[in-house]
Amino acid sequence: MQALLDAQRRAFINSRPERLDIRRDRIERAIALLKINAEALCAAMSADFGNRSPLQSMMTDIAATVGFGRYCLKNLDTWAQASSRAPRFPLRLLGAKAELRFEPKGVVGIISPWNFPVNLTLSPLMQVFAAGNRAILKPSEFTERTSALMQRLVSEAFDPAELTVVTGGPDVAEAFTKLAFDHLVYTGSSAVGRKVMAAAAQNLVPVTLELGGKSPAIIGRGADLTKAGNRIALGKTLNAGQICLAPDYLLVPEHLEDGAIAAFELGVRDMYPSLLGNDDYASIVSDDHIARLNSLVADARDKGAEVIEINPASEDFSSADSRKMAPTVLRGVTKDMRALKEEIFGPILPVVTYRDIDEAIAFVNAGDRPLGLYYFGDESGERERVLTRTSSGGVTVNDTIFHLTVDDLPFGGVGTSGMGCYHGEEGFREFSHARGVYTQARVDVARLAGFKPPYGNSARKA
Ligand code: NAD
Repeated sequence: MQALLDAQRRAFINSRPERLDIRRDRIERAIALLKINAEALCAAMSADFGNRSPLQSMMTDIAATVGFGRYCLKNLDTWAQASSRAPRFPLRLLGAKAELRFEPKGVVGIISPWNFPVNLTLSPLMQVFAAGNRAILKPSEFTERTSALMQRLVSEAFDPAELTVVTGGPDVAEAFTKLAFDHLVYTGSSAVGRKVMAAAAQNLVPVTLELGGKSPAIIGRGADLTKAGNRIALGKTLNAGQICLAPDYLLVPEHLEDGAIAAFELGVRDMYPSLLGNDDYASIVSDDHIARLNSLVADARDKGAEVIEINPASEDFSSADSRKMAPTVLRGVTKDMRALKEEIFGPILPVVTYRDIDEAIAFVNAGDRPLGLYYFGDESGERERVLTRTSSGGVTVNDTIFHLTVDDLPFGGVGTSGMGCYHGEEGFREFSHARGVYTQARVDVARLAGFKPPYGNSARKA
């Protein structure tokens, strides 16, 4: 890995400037790789998950990433223009010039997780390329067919000095984080994010950390319950809840609890009349992950929560190879239950009730700052109260997850849900170095401005 990094850095130094047409060509090749191999990549993802709709993968991993690549192509010129933010200039330096240049950082490492294995590897790459960098990718060991395929396809379409893929588990990942990259992007859990940042700190490598957390869905007093239930059901069951932005738990006014749960159930049944053999409903990625999810439910049940499994009661989910988990509502949850302490990352929805909105706000603020926050309701006063008194990476009002689909909005976490972002112009700047360049005037500015000794004269003048 060190040799790969050295080769990329040498190439970066020797080929500067990384012209815009070269960056464009790299993004176009990444887009072509996705389009030409879309079916093979989707088949690999289905095989890795055990069961995951290729149509879902086509949408969430292929189309979304191609779309983001096109967005980068469209905006590259504007982002890269040195004059896009003309610096304000003090009058006493008249005749001199100041400009801001967004320069590539160099070689960027990208470590990605299994839940959207193509998207979360290649989307950041599009913007890393847009900013003129080279990259080494380390996709997840949990989706090993997809990772191996990406490795082969990248090696066919790119010179290893511009882009390459390394594969392997935590040992490889750990060694990867010890390399002196010019920037490191990590997407994964907050626990591993801490280790990544500690390793990067040894080389003073700047990091973008795209982490997780417990994103609340808050039903306000004026919410349309049917709509809210439907939309929360989609957010919670897409990829079987294995999404960093999935609504983690529900906060609902006490008197609306029954209605909200009924609406969620209806929403689930409407999308998945049956779960078994229905690949619209994804499997859980591994036996360990399904065991963890089952243990969250068992813990809640043991401590007194009511467990409501939606749909599959009559279906046999016991077969070891199915790894499907029914959407499950937990009612009557308390703070000592693991379901309210750990990020769920699966199709389990704990329901917490509140009496007034400030209680809901206090509940959110008592936890770590989440990656997403969802508010349902049409009362602008209440909505603003929630938005201005809480903090989260991003927000969707009257739905879940959708803020991620706006390429022009920065996407990232805050606090334990992450730092830095990509998407939007902010993402381009994240992977660039903002270099200030000053060109001196012909006249002796230092003397005129009084910077030059003897200071006595200028002080007397002043
Ligand atoms: P994972 O287990 O696939 O791990 C992610 C990556 O970290 C893998 O490439 C893995 O090899 C690597 N890794 C493992 N140990 C490491 C170490 N010690 N040092 C460095 N790298 C190491 O995925 P995961 O962590 O189970 O992913 C799920 C988590 O990711 C959830 O918390 C979820 O919220 C979060 N997530 C965040 C985003 C986002 O954009 N913010 C997106 C998806 C997932």
